[in-house]
Amino acid sequence: MSDCIFCKIAIKEIPANVVYEDEYILAFYDIQPAAPSHVLIIPKEHIPSMAQVEERHKELLGHIHLAIQSIAERLGIQESGYRIVNNCGEQGGQTVHHLHFHLLGGRPMKWPPG
Ligand code: IMP
Repeated sequence: MSDCIFCKIAIKEIPANVVYEDEYILAFYDIQPAAPSHVLIIPKEHIPSMAQVEERHKELLGHIHLAIQSIAERLGIQESGYRIVNNCGEQGGQTVHHLHFHLLGGRPMKWPPG
């Protein structure tokens, strides 16, 4: 989508600190980190949110979650543990309307989240 900031990051129109990339997905550091390690994982395809995920995206979602394991390894948080967050829609706290998963680690996480 032409006005989507994450689409622009995916096509390198806007710079990002990339930690992982392949044909389908991109992972880059969040500009406002909420933890010592805070990376966003996005599909290159523009999917607005989890609410718009379709049957045909099943493999993509599995791919993202498997990639998260190796990204966590790369960040050095695989052993200590981490949190994966998806904010969906207004009440879910989503501010960027391109599907993304937050990978947070490097400190103990609290529950319930705010
Ligand atoms: P959401 O609130 O779940 O939609 O998360 C959006 C995240 O994107 C927030 O944590 C922002 O800090 C992050 N963000 C917004 N713009 C950029 C950017 O240009 N580069 C990296 N992260 C961004």
